[in-house]
Amino acid sequence: MDFNLRGRTAIVCAASLGLGKACALALAGEGVDVVIAARRPELLAAAAREIAEQTGAKVTPVEADVTTEDGRRRLLDACRSPDILINNAGGPPAGDFRKFDREDWIKAIDANMLAPIALIKATVDGMIERKFGRIVNITSHAVKAPIGFLGLSNGARAGLTGFVGGLARTVAEHNVTINNLLPGTFDTDRLKSNLQALAKGTGREVGAVTEEIRSGNPSRRFGRPEEFGAACAFLCSAQASYINGQNLLIDGGAYPGLL
Ligand code: NAP
Repeated sequence: MDFNLRGRTAIVCAASLGLGKACALALAGEGVDVVIAARRPELLAAAAREIAEQTGAKVTPVEADVTTEDGRRRLLDACRSPDILINNAGGPPAGDFRKFDREDWIKAIDANMLAPIALIKATVDGMIERKFGRIVNITSHAVKAPIGFLGLSNGARAGLTGFVGGLARTVAEHNVTINNLLPGTFDTDRLKSNLQALAKGTGREVGAVTEEIRSGNPSRRFGRPEEFGAACAFLCSAQASYINGQNLLIDGGAYPGLL
């Protein structure tokens, strides 16, 4: 299927590794010019080269911390009128909530709620004027089924989810959609650090914890980042214009509920 995205432009946040990079690669594969952001310049440059080589698309790396105003400004300077915005940032640390102070909460809320809202605010009106826009926020399966040791993530992402739920209904008539993609357990650096935190917190071997979670998934495996990227590209397609305000879980069937 041709997603009818050739010639469109996208900002993809936190895209030198993992899920963000997979989204940038999938969009670039559909002929989208992508502007990718991350903080560590070497990894970012390597990702930009890899995506450009694999797809032939125009890839612009912007060294930026998306949780800062300055970082977001540089990103928007590199792509003033994006057709597509993929919001993403590193997840907050895992751990016992008793050990987190106000500063930890502010950091989590900045990264996983306020940064995406600021970028939506900066781009959505242009999308409305141009009668095309796709915004995808990478959140977490923990939005649907909160996880005890991920309190910072549960709290901050619930705030973003509530905000997006309201806003999405006000922009859809202009062919602008806003959806959240909820990763389950995908094989990335973030998953590895969460598994290490879980092992440490429960006094178990990381290998045993990893195997338990992997085999406990109905698919008996972790997700592959490219599977996530492909879903993201579809949500951004012309064909997906009637999918709006949704929280789409991609977790191999791990969430046990019907809805
Ligand atoms: P990852 O493999 O650790 O990659 C994180 C990417 O984000 C890197 O490119 C990193 O580069 C960039 N980044 C982090 N903070 C940034 C910031 N402030 N500004 C700009 N770039 C930033 O993580 P992932 O697994 O792809 O996860 C992506 C998101 O999905 C996270 O919020 C994570 O919590 C969530 N999630 C993941 C899973 C999973 O199974 N993988 C499950 C649920 C939720 P730099 O460090 O160089 O900036």
